[in-house]
Amino acid sequence: MELSEKIAVLSAAAKYDASCASSGSGRAGDGFSGGKGGGGRRQGAFFGATLPAGVCHSWTEDGRCVSLLKVLYSNVCRFDCSYCVNRASADTRRASFTTEELITLTCEFYRHNYIEGLFLSSGIFADPDIVMEKLVETARKLRTEAGFGGYIHLQIIPGSGAKFIRPAGLWADRLSANIELPTDKSLTRLAPQKSGKLIFGAMEEVLAAENENSEDRRRSRAFHPGREAPAFAPAGQSTQLIVGVSAENDRQIITLSGALYRKFFLRRVYYSAYTPVGVPGGGGIPDPRLPEISGPPLAREHRLYQADWLLRFYHFSPEEILEGDSVHLDIQVDPKTAWALRHPERFPVELGRADYEELLRVPGVGATSARRIIEQRRSRSLSYEGLRRIGVVLKRARYFITVAGAAIDRLDDPKRVRRVIAGTDGGGLQLPLFDF
Ligand code: SF4
Repeated sequence: MELSEKIAVLSAAAKYDASCASSGSGRAGDGFSGGKGGGGRRQGAFFGATLPAGVCHSWTEDGRCVSLLKVLYSNVCRFDCSYCVNRASADTRRASFTTEELITLTCEFYRHNYIEGLFLSSGIFADPDIVMEKLVETARKLRTEAGFGGYIHLQIIPGSGAKFIRPAGLWADRLSANIELPTDKSLTRLAPQKSGKLIFGAMEEVLAAENENSEDRRRSRAFHPGREAPAFAPAGQSTQLIVGVSAENDRQIITLSGALYRKFFLRRVYYSAYTPVGVPGGGGIPDPRLPEISGPPLAREHRLYQADWLLRFYHFSPEEILEGDSVHLDIQVDPKTAWALRHPERFPVELGRADYEELLRVPGVGATSARRIIEQRRSRSLSYEGLRRIGVVLKRARYFITVAGAAIDRLDDPKRVRRVIAGTDGGGLQLPLFDF
């Protein structure tokens, strides 16, 4: 098969993996933390598209757009995860790169400025140890033989031994072990060759290696200044959960994410709305284990990302995001607004006096605008016009705040306010993630 065909097959096979948005890498000389021109849409000359096949856009935590070559090493797979286009029983075109092809391709794309990094995963075409060894070898050769300084995200192959995790983290910026489904019951049903034990075991191993590496680096700084040990996976670890393919509710998903952040210090949990996959053989009987849905549940995915944002940056606990008997997030309003509407006793918040934690709880006030409010009121008084300028979204915040005792609107009838906010919210898909 021609290399161009392989790229088309193996990039299409990788596109359902959401876990490649990159953030926070500090690998020295990586060209990724701003040194290589800051990303943005680049024009490519391959396949007549605006970007070369396999190049995807991701966003860093500071909102910067970066481009990654996102491909599988191989889409041949022994596993038969029912929701996956690459499952063993799927009637799909198969291809595999060689390590050398992948290295040449990555370096070419990088040299032409099409990409700032590589996201590499694989189907399980052989024993998981052999597959993982191939991924690690690719990353190692990219760094040591090809001098590649870009970002590398490697996925940990389920079932591969712990012995590969340490070398993987030495060459890669980020590692991820995808949970995919939130309970063992669903894994047994839909991805019987996987288990929570395998995946959490890999996360535990990454965490142990990170801790050991921090200690080594601390020691080398103290005893051998200037000869610091290299950082282990400096952009940390992440995982992905598929939403809407199994029966778990949002409460189970958010509770799991909260536990993962606490226990394994994950940088990110990615949520991927389940995209219905074709019937084996291109016809016949649909897999009865899979839900019959017309399209991916994108609004639900979006609300989960917002809830995740509350866990990571707004100091909410999973129990606060979904309280009482509620098991699903409100699709009509974002989760912070939903919480505020359930707690009218906490409002209005006087912006001239509130501390940072109180400000974070106000719908329409983001972490950045909360900091700016505190800064600004040190030197001058706040005004509604000034709040707009520093990024407060008044169409949501107006019901929950006072400035110098004056309100724009009131939270006297939470049901009415919910209706108004839901009307301006477009059902969830228009909302940015960052301003609530
Ligand atoms: S292990 Fe499962 S999810 Fe991964 S490529 Fe194979 S079938 Fe797909």
